[in-house]
Amino acid sequence: MDSVKNDVVSYPAYLAGQWQMSSSHETIAIQSPWQHKVLGNVQAVTQPEVDQSIQAAKKAQHKWAALSLGERGQYLNQWARELEKDKAEIATTIMDEVGKNYADAEKEVTRTIDLIRYTVQEALHMHGESVRGDGFPGGSKEKLGIIERVPLGVVLAISPFNYPVNLSASKIAPALMAGNGVIFKPATQGAISGIKMIQALDRTGLPKGILSLITGHGSQIGDYLTEHPGINMISFTGSTQTGKHLSQKSIMIPLVLELGGKDPAIVCQDADLDLTAKNIIGGAFAYSGQRCTAVKRVLVDDRVADQLVAKLKQAIETLSVGSPADNSTVVPLIDDKSADFVQGLIDDALDKGATLVTGNRRKENLMAPTLLDNVTQNMDIAWVEPFGPVLPIIRVHSVDEAVKIANKSNFGLQASVFTQDIDKALEIAGAVEVGTVQVNGRPQRGPDNFPFLGVKASGMGTQGVHNSILSMSREKLTVINLK
Ligand code: NAP
Repeated sequence: MDSVKNDVVSYPAYLAGQWQMSSSHETIAIQSPWQHKVLGNVQAVTQPEVDQSIQAAKKAQHKWAALSLGERGQYLNQWARELEKDKAEIATTIMDEVGKNYADAEKEVTRTIDLIRYTVQEALHMHGESVRGDGFPGGSKEKLGIIERVPLGVVLAISPFNYPVNLSASKIAPALMAGNGVIFKPATQGAISGIKMIQALDRTGLPKGILSLITGHGSQIGDYLTEHPGINMISFTGSTQTGKHLSQKSIMIPLVLELGGKDPAIVCQDADLDLTAKNIIGGAFAYSGQRCTAVKRVLVDDRVADQLVAKLKQAIETLSVGSPADNSTVVPLIDDKSADFVQGLIDDALDKGATLVTGNRRKENLMAPTLLDNVTQNMDIAWVEPFGPVLPIIRVHSVDEAVKIANKSNFGLQASVFTQDIDKALEIAGAVEVGTVQVNGRPQRGPDNFPFLGVKASGMGTQGVHNSILSMSREKLTVINLK
């Protein structure tokens, strides 16, 4: 299937049920962010190949949707079993390709397997409803409405680099269970991980054409996919910039966007500071902060700020920094450009008077975890998503001020509130404009049976297994007019 030249594997795309090299004869080299070598080449798929894939998905979708839920579920459960077999190989690929440490990469595959199985179960247990017309003035009992959920057609699933397997399967599995065809466009940095998971899916004997995997730069093939008349729904996870672009390009088709964040940790005077520090550290620095739900700013009551900063400093200085293969917490960023961007934010903050507590060292794209205190609102780091291992501390005088600054952000993914007063926690939770509030815990996606959503520039629509199935299907009403 794969071809090897000078020790570098060229991976085919999966088009209309066939693994094939693109007729473009163009490939994209995938560079490991930490081994500094080419891991393999992926295909730059052409527009006619996209057309063929979408046509094949359209054709296969009717038969696929006609299968029973149980039959569709069998393919997905088999996929979960195939991923179990490939777990070590896929985890290694994630580690090599996006620089996630091995333990976390393996957890990502395990979580994906669980998510696929849960999606099957959830879909099996979802059902329509019926309604009589007499509930509305002038309506009658003789009108019986049967409301079923039907597939949308062909779903375009676009995933980001940071969870190349999990955030792809969390779109593909509900789309397939809902009876749709799928066009899967992985992040280019993450495409080999995506290919490996689809190789496992292909081994289940999945009907040909129902899913295609399109590799290629989003900047080149993305608009063509998004604007394609054969696409009936788009599920996208990635940056706010790309998400906004997609929402301008996709006209009159359902769109679910899970985008960037600037999740605040609001720390009240009565917070348990040990618990708070532990959660903030894990939240901010795991996978070098390259997580949408990373803690990206701390808004702390200035009466406890010194104590919290001391605890954070101590914990940061014990974090492991280095190779993903050694299970380091802080690992090289996805590329040098990302590290330059983070460095720019640190430099801007220091130029404007922030206090460097620890960090601000760098070797190529490996950045030491950095804590900045006395960050003020005129600094870019107060507002911009760094996607790197830097944490700004903004000292506040009151809960009201913390909420005001939290809400001044364009983003609205999650927020954490640390307090021992549940009334205060609920009051703050009610006031912050985000999709999810975590009380005495770090922001995080999941467990995957929870709804997951961002508001404002952090997204549109809701994910989580149940909601993803809903968003990839629609209601269909049949009215029986009884005599
Ligand atoms: P990105 O640069 O926006 O890329 C995301 C995906 O969009 C990639 O597959 C990319 O392809 C594709 N793309 C780029 N241009 C496109 C276009 N014109 N049309 C269609 N697709 C296009 O994001 P990223 O750097 O991979 O991921 C990091 C961002 O994702 C962060 O902002 C993070 O907060 C966010 N994120 C959000 C969530 C959430 O659930 N809220 C979860 C994880 C990550 P290429 O790779 O080929 O460019």
